[in-house]
Amino acid sequence: MSAGQFLQAVTQIVFVLISLVVTRAAVRQPTAARIDIAAFFGVTTLIILESWLVAAFGVTSTPLLTIFITALLMVLPYLLIRLVNDFTTVPTLIMRGAEAGLFLAIVAIIAFSPTLPSPILVFLVLYFVAGNAYVASAFLHAAGDAGGVTRRRLYAVAAGSGFLGLAILIAGVSTFLPVAARGVTQALQQVAGLACVLSYFLGFAPPPLVRRAWQEPELRTFLSQAARLPRLPDTAAIVRELEHGAQQALGAQRAAIGLWDEDTGALRYTGANGPLSFAADQFIGGRAFTSQQPIFSRNAPRDDPEHAALYRNANATAVLAAPITAGQQRLGVLSVFAARPPIFADEDLYLLRLLADQGAVILESRALIDEATRVQAREEAARLKDDFLSAAAHDLKTPLTTLIATAQLLQRRAERRPDEPADLGAIQRIVNEAVRLRTIVIELLDAARADQNSLLGRREPVDLAELAQAVVARHTSAYHQIIVDAPEPVVGRYDRMRVTQLLENLVENAIKYSPDGGEVHIRVWGDNDQATLTVRDPGIGIPATDLPHLFERFHRGTNVDDRQFAGMGLGLYICRSIVEEHGGEIHASSKPGQGSTFQVTLPRQYAPDAAPEQEAVSAQLGTEHHR
Ligand code: ADP
Repeated sequence: MSAGQFLQAVTQIVFVLISLVVTRAAVRQPTAARIDIAAFFGVTTLIILESWLVAAFGVTSTPLLTIFITALLMVLPYLLIRLVNDFTTVPTLIMRGAEAGLFLAIVAIIAFSPTLPSPILVFLVLYFVAGNAYVASAFLHAAGDAGGVTRRRLYAVAAGSGFLGLAILIAGVSTFLPVAARGVTQALQQVAGLACVLSYFLGFAPPPLVRRAWQEPELRTFLSQAARLPRLPDTAAIVRELEHGAQQALGAQRAAIGLWDEDTGALRYTGANGPLSFAADQFIGGRAFTSQQPIFSRNAPRDDPEHAALYRNANATAVLAAPITAGQQRLGVLSVFAARPPIFADEDLYLLRLLADQGAVILESRALIDEATRVQAREEAARLKDDFLSAAAHDLKTPLTTLIATAQLLQRRAERRPDEPADLGAIQRIVNEAVRLRTIVIELLDAARADQNSLLGRREPVDLAELAQAVVARHTSAYHQIIVDAPEPVVGRYDRMRVTQLLENLVENAIKYSPDGGEVHIRVWGDNDQATLTVRDPGIGIPATDLPHLFERFHRGTNVDDRQFAGMGLGLYICRSIVEEHGGEIHASSKPGQGSTFQVTLPRQYAPDAAPEQEAVSAQLGTEHHR
């Protein structure tokens, strides 16, 4: 056997083997693509078998058989074009052209056999070569859009078709060459034939080892991204990345992840216009989730008629879906949508399952991070509660001790000398301490309300200028001068009691943290949109490091000595809550040692959302929201 004959034999045997593999696949699952692939290799096998029979029995082929075999050869490019049409759309013109060409070719073969005139031979070769060239370019194009193993298989098929066209081209050309040159062309033809069959082998029946090697690059790209995913700001961002990754890896039109929501018993998708929830068994993805099995639907509108219109609108004919599950934990489902069923759906489904498994790991890690954050937040809350309790206990203890001691003193005196006049001084101390206690308790209660954003009650028109005057009138003291600059009424709709409390707090702080004789200035002014109020004092000021934390709960300035200035560090926290619940802002500016200025801005117009309802309810029930 010569080398050429050996090559030819190998080529033919591989063709026949592929034919067996693809026929088995088509019998198992007779889809249009599989049937067309099987038909292509079936026809090739027939041609090969004929040549074997002729060789085995040493007979020369009958003219009728030659006509039949040549006609079969011409059917090959047409079958390939049909195959292309199974997974992308072949333009009608090309489809009809291919059919017409095939018809003409067969007519010509029948009419002119056994010796075909040169122009007919040229026509046949051109038809074959052009058909294969189109098929090769269509597969190349499809490969560019696809991902994973599918892409590489499509490249291989494109190469196979290219080599097939080349082999026939060489055969055609060689008929016009002198006999002496035919040895070379025959060798070339055999090489092209072998290259063709090897490419087809890789494209149509790749061995598992090759598949795995081909799978790797996409997976590697996906995994190289995967490590950073759990740290994205939220689960929605992770889902978006996973969807993008799956879409890229599979070369699909779109990918969607539905996350299982245990509480509502629904799958939650991130729609273009916000989240969408669907019952667990809705859509093909839902079925994959409930059955915990990957599903491939080549015709989604038919398989899920209830949502046919939705699939059509999204131009999604084929759907592949795989459950995202980590161990026993059902997390959701990953679906990808394609306009046409993929030619190698099994590969895509396999890759999709791998991606869904990776997705599960990523979402699990995210859930763990979230859980850790929740635990941290719980610990923080517990710590704050401890702070709160110890601050409260500490601050309540001092006035209570004085109160009890003074009351006991009074009690003993009254027992011993019942006729003596009452000790008015001691009684006054009791009253003072009781008032202090009440102030502390009220502050604690307000802080708790501020935590829940529920400080505000009914709003009404309030003139801040007038209110400032009233507050100042209550706080005039021999030690401080308070100057109000509020020439015009500044009316807005506010909770009168809370705004009064806000201003009182600021003024009391201004007095508390200023030396005797200092001047406190209050200014109130407004424009159409907002009212502004400032309280300026010449006091101890606030260190720059404290400024960012000034309005936090329990924060006291580092320049403040507990023994000199009583307080819990809740006043400004409550002030900020009052201001923010009104939709305003509060800021402090200060130069340590030279005083501080607190500035409050409040919107003049009352933001209409939610509040009218609350007002209406308050009005109907006559409820007071305050203590
Ligand atoms: P408290 O006065 O009970 O400590 P506040 O929440 O009212 O609590 O104030 C928090 C801290 O802000 C104070 O401890 C003090 O350090 C600082 N502070 C508030 N107002 C002034 C002011 N007018 N001048 C200087 N420091 C101030």
